[in-house]
Amino acid sequence: METPLTNNISPGKEPADLRQYENAGGYAAVRKALRLAPAEVMAIVEESNLRGRGGAGFPTAKKWSFVPMGDDAPRPKYLICNADEMEPGTFKDRLLLEGDPHQLIEGMIISAYTVQADVAYIFLRWAYKLAAERLESALAEAYRQGYLGKNILGSEYSLELHLHVSAGRYICGEETALLNALEGKRANPRAKPPYPQVSGLWGKPTVVNSVETLCNVPHIVNRGAAWFKNLSRSADGGTKLYGVSGRVKKPGLWELPMGTPIREILEEHAGGMQGGYRFRGLLPGGASTNFVVADQLDVAMDFDSMQVAGSRLGTGAMIILDDKTCPVGMLLNLEHFFAQESCGWCTPCWSGLSWIEQILQGLEEGSGQSSDLERLQSHARLLGPGHTFCALAPGAAEPLQSGLKHFGDDFHRHIREKRCPWR
Ligand code: NAD
Repeated sequence: METPLTNNISPGKEPADLRQYENAGGYAAVRKALRLAPAEVMAIVEESNLRGRGGAGFPTAKKWSFVPMGDDAPRPKYLICNADEMEPGTFKDRLLLEGDPHQLIEGMIISAYTVQADVAYIFLRWAYKLAAERLESALAEAYRQGYLGKNILGSEYSLELHLHVSAGRYICGEETALLNALEGKRANPRAKPPYPQVSGLWGKPTVVNSVETLCNVPHIVNRGAAWFKNLSRSADGGTKLYGVSGRVKKPGLWELPMGTPIREILEEHAGGMQGGYRFRGLLPGGASTNFVVADQLDVAMDFDSMQVAGSRLGTGAMIILDDKTCPVGMLLNLEHFFAQESCGWCTPCWSGLSWIEQILQGLEEGSGQSSDLERLQSHARLLGPGHTFCALAPGAAEPLQSGLKHFGDDFHRHIREKRCPWR
C-alpha cells in the first residue's frame, strides 16, 4: 500500500530540500499541470473524488468550480492554504508542514493554476514555529528555481505565494474569519453565502483549502484519478491521516486508506488500550464531533459512514475517553476551550458557551442540580446549526449533546454524590 502524503515523513526528521524533493519526483506534477489546460487539471481532481480534509469533506473540484473563470473574471484571484490547525487533538497538518513543505507548495501551485489564482497565502497557526521556518526556506528555494513568481517554468502562468502567520485564535481557522484576519480586521466570521469562491479576500474570488487537501493534489495529477481512488476503501478517494490520542499503547498519526474502520486504527495501529484502562468512547474527528461508543467501532472512518453513524469524520483525529477519566471533566475541559475561543460575535455562542462551562464546572465541584441536565440539553440545542454565524458553537454542542446521551449516568452520579466520583 502506497501512502503518498507521508512516504518520506517522520516527525523530527529534517524535510527534503528542493534537490532531494525533485530527485524523488517532486515538482513533476507542476510541469505536467502547466502543460494541461486548467479545466483538464480540474477534471482529473474531480474524477479522483478528493474531498476536503479540513473537516467538512466538501468535494475539492466542486469548490474550485465556483471560481469565476475567463477574461472578465474579477482579479486578482486568491488561493489560501488554511494551515491554522487548532482543533483539539488534531496535529496532522503539522506533520505535513514540518515534514514536507515542498509537497504543500507544489499542491498550492497546481491548485492555484487550476483556478487561475494570481496570489496565494499560507495562513499558518502561530504556534507552528518550526513549520514557519521550514516553509520560509522551502518558499525561497521554490522562488529561486522558478516554481514561483513570474512565468513559472517559462509558462504564461505567474503566482506569488506568501506565508502569513496567524494571530493565534481558534476562530482564525474558520475560513471567513480567516479572510477578515488576513485583511487586518478582527477575526469575526462572515455570513455565507456569498461563499469565498465568489467573494472572498478583499471581495475577490478566493479558494480556501486545507493543508492535507492540497498535499494530495500533486500525487493525483502525477499518477491519475484511478490510482488515487483505488487507494481508498470507500467511495471517497485516497488516503487519510488518522490520529489517536488518549490512553492507547501507541498514540500517533497514520496515513491509511480512506474508510479504514475505527477498530483497525485503534487496535492495529494505536496498539489498543493501555493496561488497566477500559475504552468508553471517542471523539472521532477532533473535539467538535459526536462521541462514538464501543458498539460502533466497526464503522468506516470516511465522511458518509461517519455521518450515518451519527457523528462526523471531522479532522480524523480521535480523542479517546477511558474509564479512569471523568466524562464531565473531559467535557468541561473542551467547553472551556470553546468558550474561551468564541469570537464573541453572536450571542448564542459567547453567552451559551460560558453558561455551559459554568454548569459543567458546578457539576465537577459538587454543586450540580438535577435541573442542570435539562439546562445543558437546552443550551446544546440552542447552539445547534442555524443559530450562529459559524460552525464553532454547533461543533462545541456535538460532544456535549452526545456526552449527555452516552454518559448520562455519570452526570447523575455527580449530582447524587455531590462530587466528582473520579477525584
Ligand atoms: P462548511 O461545510 O460550511 O464548508 C466547508 C467548505 O466547503 C468551505 O470551504 C465552504 O466554502 C465550502 N462550501 C460549503 N458549502 C458550499 C456551497 N454551497 N457553495 C460553495 N462552497 C461551499 O464547513 P466550515 O464551517 O468551513 O468547516 C467546518 C469544519 O471544520 C468542521 O467539519 C470541523 O471539523 C472543521 N474544523 C477543523 C479545524 C482544524 O483545525 N482542522 C478546526 C475547526 C473546525
